[in-house]
Amino acid sequence: MANTDNKFKTVISHAKEYGYVFSSSEIYDGLGAVYDYGPNGVQLKKNIKDYWWKSMLQLHQNIVGLDASILMNPKTWKASGHIDAFNDPLIDNKDSKKRYRADVLVEDYAESRRQKAKKEIKRAKKRFGDDFDEAQFVSTNKRVIRYNQEADEALERLGKYLEAEDLDAVKNLIIELGISCPVSGSKNWADVKQFNLMFATKLGADSASALDLYLRPETAQGIFVNFLNVQNTSRMSIPFGIAQIGKAFRNEIVARQFVFRQREFEQMEMQFFVKPGEELKWFKHWKEIREKWYNTLGFVHEEDYRFKPHDKMPHYANAAEDIEFNYPFGIRELEGIHSRTDYDLKAHEEFSGKKMRVHDAETGENYIPYVIETSVGVDRLFLAIFSKALEEEDLGDGKSRTVLKLPSILAPTKVAVFPLVKRDGLPEIAKEIIEDLQWGFKVLYDDKDAVGRRYRRQDAAGTPFCVTVDYETKDDQSVTIRYRDSMEQKRVKIADLKALIAEELSFKNWATKA
Ligand code: ATP
Repeated sequence: MANTDNKFKTVISHAKEYGYVFSSSEIYDGLGAVYDYGPNGVQLKKNIKDYWWKSMLQLHQNIVGLDASILMNPKTWKASGHIDAFNDPLIDNKDSKKRYRADVLVEDYAESRRQKAKKEIKRAKKRFGDDFDEAQFVSTNKRVIRYNQEADEALERLGKYLEAEDLDAVKNLIIELGISCPVSGSKNWADVKQFNLMFATKLGADSASALDLYLRPETAQGIFVNFLNVQNTSRMSIPFGIAQIGKAFRNEIVARQFVFRQREFEQMEMQFFVKPGEELKWFKHWKEIREKWYNTLGFVHEEDYRFKPHDKMPHYANAAEDIEFNYPFGIRELEGIHSRTDYDLKAHEEFSGKKMRVHDAETGENYIPYVIETSVGVDRLFLAIFSKALEEEDLGDGKSRTVLKLPSILAPTKVAVFPLVKRDGLPEIAKEIIEDLQWGFKVLYDDKDAVGRRYRRQDAAGTPFCVTVDYETKDDQSVTIRYRDSMEQKRVKIADLKALIAEELSFKNWATKA
């Protein structure tokens, strides 16, 4: 992307201007890394969640839903390992007094090396034109090899040190790589420390007997502790999945990058329970399903997103990959797909004393299932979709338009209906059309300014279809439908409008897109 900083700023200001995202409690100067979703934002978010929910539950007969509470018995977090190990390694810069995640500093360093390699490739491409053989250049050019090696080595060492919980080695790595504080440029670093990310609170009025609680840092544990309730009541047998959408809370150390990293956010998680030994087959299966799902939204593999194995395997997993998205500020995790083994159910069995097992009719034995998890942040997906959709489109002759090309199935408003002028019965016809369409779709009416300006307003807000009622409508019962992305205009009968729009927004058409 040409100017990524500017693109990101444009995304943030556009999100505010069009009622998508506001800073939380803004009149009191906001609250770090906490955001509110405005009228368009809440609708886009809801549509994203509906699309995911339907894709998971409606299209899989063996996946059921759950809505567990945010507050849980604190033993849950002891069993899951969050009290002891849900930490981020943090490092303070002694001069700027700024605090960073040590792992993120090294990851940013690696990304900067890769960007350097990419620049070399781009330059060479320009120089050699059509004769350029990229694969050969990447494997033979000394500078490109060195940059990529430096990135790989840094990440490999980071993973190794974090795995061994050797925080001194992480600090030394930061010093050795010459990483400086992004704010002050200083290389004067304090020791790396672990910081628990859970928000604590109390249950009960009497401070002496109050119970220490935590706001859940992930929705997954609500699924695990309910595993047997769900299985018994929904008569599911292995393999089957439980899906949940809900809020999670993390006291993030470095909370920047807009809704990407928040202290209060939403997750869409699906835990899929399988026979031990079959988990890697299912891991691959779910990776493929999730890849196809992103493709239905118009995401392009390698250009918009990529799969990336974890540098450090989580303590609960035997396979783990992230889906990383190309955000305006860099390539970052959007979704995690993890083969969680029987780690969680086993721990809950141990801590609760309740059996977390299913019966195998073939062997006659009871066993703890293994779990494949797909976990995506609603807010991160929102940001991915929104930033990919926002374009300043060149229309030639020095003209341009701002357009938010949201997938129409996710767009907050589906249709805007305009009377060409505010008289001669045209507004009445427009309102009649709205009364009919509103039963199927979110529709709005607009009669202010010239029609061209109304189109531009809806382009920028992301509305995929505009319908204009004009004088001919009175004679032939037809209207103009205008498509946001192509700006194509077509004449259609009012009687055909509903079916035409329904076809454009059909879940089946979207979910089966290649
Ligand atoms: P990161 O390494 O970026 O902190 P993570 O690996 O800790 O993320 P997971 O624990 O795998 O994240 O959580 C699953 C998903 O929840 C992530 O892929 C992401 O989409 C979302 N998520 C996690 N933390 C946040 C956050 N602070 N703000 C918004 N979304 C988040």
